[in-house]
Amino acid sequence: MLGYLFVANYFLLGSLGRNAVSAFNVAKFGGTSVANFEAMSRCAAIIENNPNTKLVVSSACSGVTNLLVELANGVADQARRQEVLNQLAQIHNEILDQLADPLSVEKEVHIILDSVATAAEAASYQTSTKLTDHLVACGELMSTHILAQLMRERDIDAVRFDIRDVLRTDSNFGKAEPQLDAIAQLAQDKLVPLCQQQVVVTQGFIGSDEEGNTTTLGRGGSDYSAALIAESVQAAGLEIWTDVPGIYTTDPRIAPKASPIPEISFSEASEMANFGAKILHPSTLVPALRHDIPVFVGSSKEPEKGGTWIRHQVESSPLFRALALRCNQTMVTLRSANMFHAYGFLAKVFEILAKHKISVDLITTSEISVSLTLDQTDTSGGAPELPQAAREELEELCTVEIEQNLCLVALIGNNMSESKGYAKQVFSTLEDFNLRMICYGASPHNLCFLLHESVSKSAIQKLHRELFEN
Ligand code: ASP
Ligand code: MG
Repeated sequence: MLGYLFVANYFLLGSLGRNAVSAFNVAKFGGTSVANFEAMSRCAAIIENNPNTKLVVSSACSGVTNLLVELANGVADQARRQEVLNQLAQIHNEILDQLADPLSVEKEVHIILDSVATAAEAASYQTSTKLTDHLVACGELMSTHILAQLMRERDIDAVRFDIRDVLRTDSNFGKAEPQLDAIAQLAQDKLVPLCQQQVVVTQGFIGSDEEGNTTTLGRGGSDYSAALIAESVQAAGLEIWTDVPGIYTTDPRIAPKASPIPEISFSEASEMANFGAKILHPSTLVPALRHDIPVFVGSSKEPEKGGTWIRHQVESSPLFRALALRCNQTMVTLRSANMFHAYGFLAKVFEILAKHKISVDLITTSEISVSLTLDQTDTSGGAPELPQAAREELEELCTVEIEQNLCLVALIGNNMSESKGYAKQVFSTLEDFNLRMICYGASPHNLCFLLHESVSKSAIQKLHRELFEN
């Protein structure tokens, strides 16, 4: 039904991981992939099509964790609390109603919904991080009951497993630290034997501490869970099914001819993520990297489109791999009249920045000046500000100029600092642009420019056309 590409894709999924210890793959489905009955059915089809996939890690249904977080923060208004509880019931009941045999899991799901109501009331009096984790874990606990049943109804021999029996963490509720040795041992004892017999469906994001309290790994933690679980069972491959068909040469909304990248190295992928590409964050994949487990990223909506493998070693390392764009940049230029042949100026500048916990991203220097951009440290998404106190201290040393409305364009590739001849092509493509800053040479994987935000997208378009579309 899904055609040749789909089959070819799965052949690849099965064969590429053949060197690893365990014969099976772990597949993780994000919230949008399990948002409703149709979405869950697509996940089941993906599992059916690859007999190599034995372990399924699922997020909560889309939107559920946000609702649970609202309850966990304490909703004093009883009407609002009831409204949120109704929404939660509706999301799950709608899927249950479409199962052939809803009764087989309805009771389990409703018990969890009841416990959510009780905990939400408790949170309206007094919140705690422990209670929050108990509450927000319920999304994954419910979605996996339903997904496992849906798979059984399609004749997949699936069993739901409570990952809290394996994913041991410390008791740092809200952002618990996994305990790798314990997880590895528990996985070998409890999970691996099960995976050899059945398809196991389990929860992302959650774990438990030594006392058996439920913990979570932090928002968006199910990718990290999946990588930890893949590591613990020594999986052959880790599939991350999301709502985009892998990693593209650039954002297709900016350059419609952007093309999917079939294979990319961990280091290139982390450069892309660091420079703003909205892809899987490689820091969540560290466990997979540690065990050299290849990671596949694809869309559960369009599995026939294939996706991207992120691997330690890749077959081709092209000079140009991708273009990333990150806006809301703040550039600080410091000029000192006394800098000429002086020493210690940069040391003083960085001492002040360190004292104010300001992290620097890009930097270029000249004899009497230094320009740097500030790292995005908060999650507001706006341009970072230089704190007034830091500015005043810097002004005792030099003049301080601040520019905003800038974007960073990063050209990502391989061996860039050792290659000849390509700079001409890059710079002649950008000859009509005012490049406010250029960073090149420190990393073999990137060449970065700072441009005014009004022209940054057209710079990406031009570079993409010139370097990737022929
Ligand atoms: N359900 C959790 C969240 O929304 C974890 C995840 O989906 O990654 O943060
Ligand atoms: Mg997610």
